[in-house]
Amino acid sequence: MTDKNLIKIAEEFGTPTYVYDAESIKNHYEKLTSSFHKSTRFFYAAKALTNINILKYIKNLGAGLDCVSINEVKLGLKAGFTHNNILFTPNCVDLLEIEEAMKLKVHINIDNISILEQFGTKYGNTYPIFVRINPHIYAGGNHKISTGHIDSKFGISIHQLRHITRVMKSTNLLIEGLHMHTGSEIKDPEVFIQGLEIMFELAEHFPDLKYIDMGSGFKVPYQEGDIETDVKTLGKKVEKVLAEYHKESGIKFELWFEPGKYLVSTSGHFLVKSNVIKQTTATVFVGINSGFNHLIRPMFYDSHHIIDNLSNPKGAERIYTVVGNICETDTFAWDRKLNEVRENDILVFRNAGAYGFEMSSNFNSRLKPAEVLFLDGKAHLIRRREEFDDLLKNQIEVL
Ligand SMILES: *Cc1c(COP(=O)(O)O)cnc(C)c1O
Repeated sequence: MTDKNLIKIAEEFGTPTYVYDAESIKNHYEKLTSSFHKSTRFFYAAKALTNINILKYIKNLGAGLDCVSINEVKLGLKAGFTHNNILFTPNCVDLLEIEEAMKLKVHINIDNISILEQFGTKYGNTYPIFVRINPHIYAGGNHKISTGHIDSKFGISIHQLRHITRVMKSTNLLIEGLHMHTGSEIKDPEVFIQGLEIMFELAEHFPDLKYIDMGSGFKVPYQEGDIETDVKTLGKKVEKVLAEYHKESGIKFELWFEPGKYLVSTSGHFLVKSNVIKQTTATVFVGINSGFNHLIRPMFYDSHHIIDNLSNPKGAERIYTVVGNICETDTFAWDRKLNEVRENDILVFRNAGAYGFEMSSNFNSRLKPAEVLFLDGKAHLIRRREEFDDLLKNQIEVL
């Protein structure tokens, strides 16, 4: 997909619009699968982007699905994933939501002792489960997206191993999988190897173990000079460690990963329009027809998205502060060099496939953007732009 395609899409469907390039998703999936042993399985972390067409496309590539809510499980089933290709990895949900997932026959990953005990007491060995371990490895881009550290709410602490096995034995639980997800944007492949070695140590306590799920953490570059997780090297290292373990113990596990961002981030291009160029005493603002209600990552995680001016790609570079139209501090980029921006130019945020549309809201009573899938050279509208009536859809007027 080229910038020309993007301009045409902006003209045809308007802005703000999220555009996803299917080919990019396919390329990233194939890069993963070709880097690891063929028995390794990849469960797309749905929460990055759940448009049903994206789910179907990723299912057709051969991936499984990792879901963090019962509704993601239902979306996955609707998209055609079979129940044994779905893993439900919730946190802080009640037993009822877990029981709903049981009825749908998907793999279930339990992340606290309380539910483990309730589940075991009620169901014993009648339904195999995964247990989410917190290995206390500090990994991931920053505190907000790191999930393995000591302050994290995720998983059952590795120091509670004794308690897990107690519950397992006294309730006859069938634990078929161990899971860890230490955070997003892990730069060092050694973190995965360290995690895997911890898993091997744990494995001897779980006689029914078939799966080891290493979660995600695959990083994609967001700006120039940024790195992408080197999946080729990681794949080789992992294969070596697994083979050694197999040789020593005679035990073989199926290895799973749950990439979200890695599969869909690069595919996404968020198209917006510059509404106002506003010179102040301190800077030149570009005010666009969007805000953190549509793309919250810069304000929420201080993340960097490359921005390009599609309407004036040869214009002289100038320095801008790109802001949204929300009544709140709403800055997408400070001191950013862009080809000269004029009012009504089309700008694009790159790498907007993951946690972009998905985290959007109606703050300021603004409407959510449209979504377009670019597939085999053709642009398909896959979500219509919201309309005014959508704001009132669930409201009940009592006055
Ligand atoms: C969010 C999440 C992922 C995906 O993380 P990415 O950084 O998007 O790859 C995988 N597994 C679990 C359990 C998650 O919560």
